[in-house]
Amino acid sequence: MNLIVLHETDFIRPGIVRLTGRRLEHISKVHRAEPGQHLRVGLIDGDIGLGEITDLSDQYVELRVEFTQSPPPPPPVTLILALPRPKMLKRIIQHVTALGVKRLVLINSYRVEKSYWQTPWLDEGKLLEQCLLGLEQAVDTKMPQIILRKRFKPFVEDELPELAKNSLKLVAHPVGGEACPVDLGESCTLVIGPEGGFIPYEVEKLKEIGFNSVHLGPRILRVETALPVLVSRLFPAH
Ligand code: SAM
Repeated sequence: MNLIVLHETDFIRPGIVRLTGRRLEHISKVHRAEPGQHLRVGLIDGDIGLGEITDLSDQYVELRVEFTQSPPPPPPVTLILALPRPKMLKRIIQHVTALGVKRLVLINSYRVEKSYWQTPWLDEGKLLEQCLLGLEQAVDTKMPQIILRKRFKPFVEDELPELAKNSLKLVAHPVGGEACPVDLGESCTLVIGPEGGFIPYEVEKLKEIGFNSVHLGPRILRVETALPVLVSRLFPAH
Protein backbone atom coordinates (compact mmCIF):
# COMPACT_ATOMS: atom_id res chain seq x y z
CA MET A 1 0.00 0.00 0.00
CA ASN A 2 2.07 2.94 -1.29
CA LEU A 3 -0.92 5.23 -0.98
CA ILE A 4 -3.72 5.26 1.58
CA VAL A 5 -6.78 5.76 -0.62
CA LEU A 6 -9.53 7.76 1.10
CA HIS A 7 -13.25 8.00 0.44
CA GLU A 8 -15.60 10.87 1.26
CA THR A 9 -17.22 8.64 3.91
CA ASP A 10 -13.88 8.47 5.82
CA PHE A 11 -14.17 12.15 6.82
CA ILE A 12 -15.45 12.75 10.35
CA ARG A 13 -14.72 16.51 10.15
CA PRO A 14 -13.34 18.72 7.39
CA GLY A 15 -9.70 17.67 6.89
CA ILE A 16 -9.89 14.77 9.41
CA VAL A 17 -10.40 11.11 8.45
CA ARG A 18 -10.95 8.09 10.66
CA LEU A 19 -9.92 4.71 9.23
CA THR A 20 -10.60 1.17 10.43
CA GLY A 21 -10.20 -2.35 8.99
CA ARG A 22 -7.61 -3.08 6.34
CA ARG A 23 -6.15 0.43 6.25
CA LEU A 24 -5.82 0.61 10.05
CA GLU A 25 -4.14 -2.77 10.06
CA HIS A 26 -1.73 -1.75 7.31
CA ILE A 27 -0.85 1.56 8.98
CA SER A 28 -0.22 -0.01 12.38
CA LYS A 29 1.32 -3.37 11.34
CA VAL A 30 3.17 -2.64 8.08
CA HIS A 31 4.06 1.04 8.50
CA ARG A 32 4.33 0.57 12.29
CA ALA A 33 3.23 4.17 12.33
CA GLU A 34 3.04 6.41 15.40
CA PRO A 35 1.10 9.61 16.06
CA GLY A 36 2.88 12.53 14.40
CA GLN A 37 4.03 10.43 11.44
CA HIS A 38 3.06 11.48 7.91
CA LEU A 39 1.71 9.05 5.30
CA ARG A 40 0.88 9.55 1.65
CA VAL A 41 -2.88 9.77 1.13
CA GLY A 42 -5.12 10.29 -1.88
CA LEU A 43 -8.80 10.99 -2.27
CA ILE A 44 -10.54 8.56 -4.60
CA ASP A 45 -10.91 10.26 -8.00
CA GLY A 46 -9.22 13.30 -6.46
CA ASP A 47 -5.83 14.65 -5.41
CA ILE A 48 -2.87 13.23 -3.51
CA GLY A 49 -1.23 14.65 -0.39
CA LEU A 50 -0.11 13.83 3.12
CA GLY A 51 -1.91 12.69 6.23
CA GLU A 52 -0.53 13.27 9.73
CA ILE A 53 -1.53 10.65 12.27
CA THR A 54 -3.28 12.45 15.13
CA ASP A 55 -4.73 9.45 16.98
CA LEU A 56 -4.00 5.73 16.79
CA SER A 57 -5.63 2.88 18.71
CA ASP A 58 -6.62 -0.76 18.15
CA GLN A 59 -10.02 0.45 16.92
CA TYR A 60 -9.13 3.27 14.54
CA VAL A 61 -6.57 5.70 13.24
CA GLU A 62 -7.24 9.38 12.65
CA LEU A 63 -5.27 11.53 10.24
CA ARG A 64 -5.26 15.23 9.44
CA VAL A 65 -5.07 15.30 5.65
CA GLU A 66 -4.09 17.84 3.05
CA PHE A 67 -4.14 17.31 -0.70
CA THR A 68 -1.50 19.09 -2.76
CA GLN A 69 -0.99 17.35 -6.09
CA SER A 70 -2.81 15.68 -8.95
CA PRO A 71 -2.59 11.94 -9.59
CA PRO A 72 -0.18 10.85 -12.35
CA PRO A 73 -1.43 11.37 -15.92
CA PRO A 74 -2.83 8.17 -17.45
CA PRO A 75 -1.48 6.71 -20.68
CA PRO A 76 -3.99 7.57 -23.44
CA VAL A 77 -5.04 3.99 -24.05
CA THR A 78 -8.32 2.12 -24.07
CA LEU A 79 -7.67 -1.54 -23.46
CA ILE A 80 -9.88 -4.25 -24.96
CA LEU A 81 -9.03 -7.55 -23.36
CA ALA A 82 -10.43 -11.02 -23.99
CA LEU A 83 -11.73 -12.18 -20.61
CA PRO A 84 -8.91 -14.03 -18.80
CA ARG A 85 -9.49 -17.14 -16.69
CA PRO A 86 -10.83 -16.28 -13.21
CA LYS A 87 -7.54 -17.20 -11.53
CA MET A 88 -5.73 -14.58 -13.59
CA LEU A 89 -8.49 -11.98 -13.69
CA LYS A 90 -7.84 -10.51 -10.22
CA ARG A 91 -4.16 -9.88 -10.83
CA ILE A 92 -4.70 -8.61 -14.35
CA ILE A 93 -7.24 -6.04 -13.09
CA GLN A 94 -4.68 -4.91 -10.51
CA HIS A 95 -1.92 -4.67 -13.15
CA VAL A 96 -4.14 -2.81 -15.61
CA THR A 97 -5.07 -0.30 -12.90
CA ALA A 98 -1.48 0.09 -11.70
CA LEU A 99 -0.38 0.77 -15.29
CA GLY A 100 -2.82 3.69 -15.33
CA VAL A 101 -5.33 2.35 -17.87
CA LYS A 102 -8.60 4.23 -17.32
CA ARG A 103 -10.88 2.34 -19.66
CA LEU A 104 -10.90 -1.46 -19.87
CA VAL A 105 -13.36 -3.50 -21.89
CA LEU A 106 -13.47 -7.23 -21.12
CA ILE A 107 -14.79 -9.06 -24.17
CA ASN A 108 -15.75 -12.52 -25.22
CA SER A 109 -13.82 -14.39 -27.87
CA TYR A 110 -14.03 -17.88 -29.36
CA ARG A 111 -11.28 -19.16 -27.05
CA VAL A 112 -12.73 -17.64 -23.87
CA GLU A 113 -14.46 -20.43 -21.98
CA LYS A 114 -18.13 -19.63 -21.33
CA SER A 115 -17.75 -20.54 -17.65
CA TYR A 116 -15.29 -17.63 -17.17
CA TRP A 117 -18.25 -15.23 -17.37
CA GLN A 118 -19.81 -16.84 -14.28
CA THR A 119 -16.99 -15.97 -11.93
CA PRO A 120 -17.91 -13.88 -8.86
CA TRP A 121 -14.71 -11.90 -9.51
CA LEU A 122 -16.64 -10.07 -12.23
CA ASP A 123 -19.11 -8.64 -9.68
CA GLU A 124 -18.86 -4.88 -9.54
CA GLY A 125 -17.76 -4.82 -5.90
CA LYS A 126 -15.01 -7.39 -6.48
CA LEU A 127 -13.71 -5.53 -9.54
CA LEU A 128 -13.60 -2.31 -7.52
CA GLU A 129 -11.61 -4.05 -4.77
CA GLN A 130 -8.97 -5.15 -7.28
CA CYS A 131 -8.85 -1.70 -8.86
CA LEU A 132 -8.30 -0.20 -5.42
CA LEU A 133 -5.31 -2.49 -4.85
CA GLY A 134 -3.89 -1.31 -8.19
CA LEU A 135 -4.37 2.35 -7.24
CA GLU A 136 -2.74 1.81 -3.83
CA GLN A 137 0.19 0.13 -5.53
CA ALA A 138 0.74 2.78 -8.19
CA VAL A 139 0.01 5.90 -6.08
CA ASP A 140 -2.97 6.85 -8.21
CA THR A 141 -6.52 7.84 -7.29
CA LYS A 142 -8.51 7.73 -10.52
CA MET A 143 -10.66 4.60 -10.76
CA PRO A 144 -10.75 2.92 -14.17
CA GLN A 145 -14.02 2.26 -15.94
CA ILE A 146 -14.56 -1.45 -16.60
CA ILE A 147 -17.03 -2.51 -19.29
CA LEU A 148 -18.12 -6.13 -19.85
CA ARG A 149 -19.16 -7.28 -23.33
CA LYS A 150 -20.20 -10.91 -23.63
CA ARG A 151 -20.71 -10.99 -27.40
CA PHE A 152 -17.72 -10.42 -29.69
CA LYS A 153 -19.41 -9.69 -33.02
CA PRO A 154 -22.01 -7.09 -31.92
CA PHE A 155 -19.37 -5.38 -29.79
CA VAL A 156 -16.87 -5.17 -32.65
CA GLU A 157 -19.42 -4.19 -35.27
CA ASP A 158 -21.67 -1.82 -33.31
CA GLU A 159 -19.66 -0.35 -30.45
CA LEU A 160 -15.94 -0.58 -31.06
CA PRO A 161 -15.79 1.80 -34.07
CA GLU A 162 -17.21 4.62 -31.92
CA LEU A 163 -15.14 3.66 -28.86
CA ALA A 164 -11.92 3.65 -30.89
CA LYS A 165 -12.74 6.76 -32.92
CA ASN A 166 -9.81 9.22 -33.24
CA SER A 167 -7.29 6.75 -31.80
CA LEU A 168 -4.72 4.44 -33.34
CA LYS A 169 -6.26 0.99 -33.54
CA LEU A 170 -3.98 -1.94 -32.72
CA VAL A 171 -4.51 -5.62 -32.08
CA ALA A 172 -1.64 -7.48 -30.42
CA HIS A 173 -1.23 -10.73 -32.29
CA PRO A 174 1.92 -12.87 -32.31
CA VAL A 175 1.52 -13.86 -35.94
CA GLY A 176 2.01 -11.46 -38.87
CA GLY A 177 1.59 -7.72 -38.74
CA GLU A 178 4.28 -5.20 -37.89
CA ALA A 179 6.48 -4.77 -34.86
CA CYS A 180 4.61 -2.94 -32.13
CA PRO A 181 5.45 0.78 -32.35
CA VAL A 182 7.43 2.44 -29.58
CA ASP A 183 6.48 5.72 -27.91
CA LEU A 184 3.29 6.44 -29.83
CA GLY A 185 2.65 10.03 -28.85
CA GLU A 186 -1.05 9.65 -29.68
CA SER A 187 -4.00 7.87 -28.17
CA CYS A 188 -4.54 4.21 -28.90
CA THR A 189 -7.13 1.48 -28.62
CA LEU A 190 -5.30 -1.76 -27.96
CA VAL A 191 -6.86 -5.22 -28.23
CA ILE A 192 -5.25 -8.19 -26.47
CA GLY A 193 -6.37 -11.75 -27.06
CA PRO A 194 -7.21 -14.70 -24.81
CA GLU A 195 -4.73 -17.30 -23.55
CA GLY A 196 -5.40 -19.44 -26.64
CA GLY A 197 -5.14 -16.41 -28.97
CA PHE A 198 -7.69 -14.89 -31.35
CA ILE A 199 -8.98 -17.07 -34.17
CA PRO A 200 -8.35 -15.73 -37.72
CA TYR A 201 -12.03 -14.68 -38.07
CA GLU A 202 -11.70 -12.40 -35.04
CA VAL A 203 -8.48 -10.79 -36.28
CA GLU A 204 -10.20 -10.30 -39.65
CA LYS A 205 -13.24 -8.62 -38.01
CA LEU A 206 -10.94 -6.24 -36.17
CA LYS A 207 -9.05 -5.50 -39.40
CA GLU A 208 -12.32 -4.66 -41.14
CA ILE A 209 -12.83 -1.75 -38.73
CA GLY A 210 -9.26 -0.49 -39.02
CA PHE A 211 -7.27 -2.43 -36.42
CA ASN A 212 -3.72 -3.23 -37.50
CA SER A 213 -2.03 -6.27 -36.08
CA VAL A 214 1.23 -5.71 -34.15
CA HIS A 215 3.66 -8.17 -32.62
CA LEU A 216 6.31 -8.21 -29.91
CA GLY A 217 8.70 -10.54 -31.69
CA PRO A 218 8.72 -14.32 -31.97
CA ARG A 219 8.21 -15.08 -28.27
CA ILE A 220 4.63 -15.84 -27.36
CA LEU A 221 3.98 -14.22 -24.03
CA ARG A 222 1.29 -14.84 -21.46
CA VAL A 223 -1.38 -12.15 -21.35
CA GLU A 224 -0.14 -10.85 -17.98
CA THR A 225 3.35 -10.44 -19.48
CA ALA A 226 2.30 -9.11 -22.90
CA LEU A 227 0.03 -6.49 -21.33
CA PRO A 228 2.64 -4.43 -19.38
CA VAL A 229 5.18 -4.87 -22.20
CA LEU A 230 2.71 -3.48 -24.74
CA VAL A 231 1.56 -0.55 -22.60
CA SER A 232 5.07 0.50 -21.57
CA ARG A 233 6.36 0.09 -25.11
CA LEU A 234 3.56 2.22 -26.58
CA PHE A 235 3.74 4.77 -23.76
CA PRO A 236 7.23 4.68 -22.17
CA ALA A 237 7.99 6.85 -19.15
CA HIS A 238 9.87 10.05 -20.00
N1 SAM B 1 -1.19 -19.30 -29.25
C1 SAM B 1 -1.77 -17.98 -29.12
C2 SAM B 1 -1.62 -17.20 -30.43
O1 SAM B 1 -0.80 -17.59 -31.25
O2 SAM B 1 -2.29 -16.18 -30.61
C3 SAM B 1 -1.07 -17.30 -27.99
C4 SAM B 1 -1.90 -16.29 -27.32
S1 SAM B 1 -1.05 -15.31 -26.13
C5 SAM B 1 -0.76 -16.43 -24.85
C6 SAM B 1 -2.31 -14.28 -25.53
C7 SAM B 1 -2.35 -12.89 -26.13
O3 SAM B 1 -1.21 -12.13 -25.70
C8 SAM B 1 -2.30 -12.82 -27.63
O4 SAM B 1 -3.60 -13.01 -28.20
C9 SAM B 1 -1.75 -11.43 -27.89
O5 SAM B 1 -2.77 -10.45 -27.81
C10 SAM B 1 -0.78 -11.26 -26.74
N2 SAM B 1 0.59 -11.67 -27.12
C11 SAM B 1 1.34 -12.63 -26.55
N3 SAM B 1 2.55 -12.71 -27.14
C12 SAM B 1 2.56 -11.79 -28.13
C13 SAM B 1 3.52 -11.38 -29.09
N4 SAM B 1 4.71 -11.95 -29.18
N5 SAM B 1 3.18 -10.38 -29.93
C14 SAM B 1 1.97 -9.79 -29.87
N6 SAM B 1 1.02 -10.14 -28.97
C15 SAM B 1 1.31 -11.11 -28.10
